[in-house]
Amino acid sequence: MSTFQAPKGTYDLLPPNSATYLAVREAISAPLKNSGYGYVETPGFEAVELFARGVGESTDIVTKEMYAFETKGGDKLALRPEGTASVLRAALEANLHKAGNLPVKLWYSGSYYRYERPQKGRYRHFSQVGAEAIGAEDPALDAELIILADQAYRSLGLRNFRILLNSLGDKECRPVYRAALQEFLRGLDLDEETLRRAEINPLRVLDDKRADVQKQLTGAPSMPDYLCDACTAYHKEVRELLDAAGVVYEDDAKLVRGLDYYTRTTFEFVHDGLGSQSAVGGGGRYDGLSEMIGGPSLPSVGWALGVDRTVLALEAEGVDLELPATTSVFAVPLGEEARRVLFGKVTELRKAGIATDFSYGGKGLKGAMKNANRSGARFTLVAGERDLADGVVQLKDMESGEQGPVALDAVLETLKAKLG
Ligand code: AMP
Repeated sequence: MSTFQAPKGTYDLLPPNSATYLAVREAISAPLKNSGYGYVETPGFEAVELFARGVGESTDIVTKEMYAFETKGGDKLALRPEGTASVLRAALEANLHKAGNLPVKLWYSGSYYRYERPQKGRYRHFSQVGAEAIGAEDPALDAELIILADQAYRSLGLRNFRILLNSLGDKECRPVYRAALQEFLRGLDLDEETLRRAEINPLRVLDDKRADVQKQLTGAPSMPDYLCDACTAYHKEVRELLDAAGVVYEDDAKLVRGLDYYTRTTFEFVHDGLGSQSAVGGGGRYDGLSEMIGGPSLPSVGWALGVDRTVLALEAEGVDLELPATTSVFAVPLGEEARRVLFGKVTELRKAGIATDFSYGGKGLKGAMKNANRSGARFTLVAGERDLADGVVQLKDMESGEQGPVALDAVLETLKAKLG
């Protein structure tokens, strides 16, 4: 062990488990790539103000959890706590919305940072795959994103997740609801911090996990009762499109989510095998965000799915992903000359796209075969001086145990045929 350890609240991804993370990222992004979303990558840090304005001054993410710092040049930056604000900033900066092709559909995958109290499923460094559809107000777009996330989870073999769905209204009906909720909250027996929150962002009090708070919230005004006609019609259509697609969801009038920018459709994917950190992903519509960060009006919708928690959900359901073998062929040279010749073969096989590894470090046959076994390779190539003199290598099928000589110049074709 070295003197150093991974910082608190973080962990390393190492083989073989790291392969599962790659597969999860791939499974989540596959439906997006298949649906017109282009890949976007933004820096790991941004101006702190982008998140303060975008995510919301009163959110936990901004007030407590941001890794904010000042650079030597005096810039105030923060490690990104989430992806949406950065992606929208990037799209606006590049004028993607002016290319006349709205919505701009983007997907991303990367690391995010929040200074949270670490526990299982909650880390200070975590990874998300996300999608944003920028610049169109269309219920089909909201439905599309929920359908694609559902498809991603199902393609991984997950079954015990639920989709919670709500509408938070728009700039017409939300203020009316907000005022009614605030009035109700002022009459409750709440601690000072919660009362303060009720003044700044009363909807977030609905999200309070404490039982005594939840008990008092019975009878609180409910958003669905306050939706204006346009929001009601919009939400109805989102639901109908999901129904038609066979996507099952639950209406949850208390679903508000922890970020300020959401309007209308909001949703969360929860997994019932994860305990308190049950949200595996979430998102919604954020029609006002572009204006909040200085852009034009660009109604948009998006989601982010957590890779770490999705892996935990797979474990909770006992799903073993079928991961492709990393190595198909393992080459074992016996002696100097064989090392030179086989190394050339390894390079040739790799060039042809066959995943091949090599026994390094001058190991004897026994040690090398142990490595070959551990690599999971389907075939090994073994060559000693006598084989080379005969112009052959020994090809061993690690499943059947069969072994036989193959002419050196026929190795590639033989393996191609055997590996299909
Ligand atoms: P949010 O941006 O908070 O809606 O988060 C979206 C998803 O990212 C969540 O559903 C989680 O799966 C994941 N996530 C958020 N925060 C954390 C964290 N601290 N540790 C692990 N995963 C997280």
